[in-house]
Amino acid sequence: MRAATLDILRCPYCGGRLSLVDSLFYSRHGDELQDGILGCHCCIFPIVDGIPVLHLHPASATARDHVQNGRPDLARRTMFGLGTEADADAFEAVAKSPAATYRQVVEALGPTFEGGYFLYRFSDPTFIVADAVVRAVAGTVMTSNARAIDVCGGSGHLTRSLMSVSSIAPVLADLYFAKVWLARRFTAPGCEPVCCDGNAPLPFVPGAFTLATCVDAFMFIWTKRQLVGELTRLVGGDAGTVLIGHTHNERTWSPSHGQPLPPEGYADLFETVEPRLFGEAHLFEDVVGGGPLDLSRRDSKEDLDRDPALTIIATRHPGVFARHSLPQPNAAVGEFRLNPLYVAEPNGTNVSLRLRFPGDDYEQEYGACRRYLPDEAEIGRSDLDALPTAQVSGSLADLVRKRVVLDLPKHYY
Ligand SMILES: [Zn+2]
Repeated sequence: MRAATLDILRCPYCGGRLSLVDSLFYSRHGDELQDGILGCHCCIFPIVDGIPVLHLHPASATARDHVQNGRPDLARRTMFGLGTEADADAFEAVAKSPAATYRQVVEALGPTFEGGYFLYRFSDPTFIVADAVVRAVAGTVMTSNARAIDVCGGSGHLTRSLMSVSSIAPVLADLYFAKVWLARRFTAPGCEPVCCDGNAPLPFVPGAFTLATCVDAFMFIWTKRQLVGELTRLVGGDAGTVLIGHTHNERTWSPSHGQPLPPEGYADLFETVEPRLFGEAHLFEDVVGGGPLDLSRRDSKEDLDRDPALTIIATRHPGVFARHSLPQPNAAVGEFRLNPLYVAEPNGTNVSLRLRFPGDDYEQEYGACRRYLPDEAEIGRSDLDALPTAQVSGSLADLVRKRVVLDLPKHYY
């Protein structure tokens, strides 16, 4: 972690400033703190492999002891939750290779790590809506010296969207060490990962951010009122904006239902600024239709009640609730590659592409992707051979528009 990030961190429990305890074991490379112990008024927390672990769950306490004993390697194993010596050795063997991919590292974390479908995240229906909303809102409220935070951001797929709109690295906060570690290495390189608990006060200074997002996670938070209070506390200035994307609706069942609230229950969580709620079905139509994304719309109570998922935006910035065009980039942030949902088969001078889901439960939860992912597509052999590439034009740009070819992080699969 960057030493300067300590300026925006605070203890989640006493609110005190955190500083490196230099009488205990630590290692740093220039401005980067690699391993060590952070202390406040009330307790101490470990930095493990450059990531501050600001909660007191059992693994954190064990990792802290390992760091104090000068064994950061054991602290890292503890935070990855690798149960046996053999699992840990197998993981380290994969992770230490500079050529290792996101997919290989996720597989090395074992079947208990919920990474299975994250490989396909960049084209799933939930993501394409959230990505469009995050880019539209961030593009409106973020200025060059503004900072964003992605709370419960998992392995950083939407943190990556935030990175394209701010010059200051966004913070990615999540309870799971392995996820934020993956994000820093693969999905959103350059982000500032922080391991913390969304069911506890968030470990940051008031007003440290202009935009706070929490996408596809809020229905799993029990202390919803506290988290909204915290997200609201974290954002400052006239542009301060809270965006809760893809949270489930208590009135309409959906897979991975969680503990959702009804629409008015979500609205009631906001005590200082009135939020606007959107049903995701309309936003999805906007995105599939190529835009614009209409955040000026007012969904009826009936539309909100029957939508399985809601997007909630709380802001005083007048530019947010407007129609936003959806740009079609021809240059990759990472590299353009074939969507991993497609299987390629040679067909003369072309290659036939066939959509194949990784499992029935994927199709049950994300089958709406059939609205924009064609069952079959053709790609010229020379176009396929040109992948990965940083720029697209012509027929390749058309396949990018159809999401058959995606802008993926480097070393993704
Ligand atoms: Zn404290």
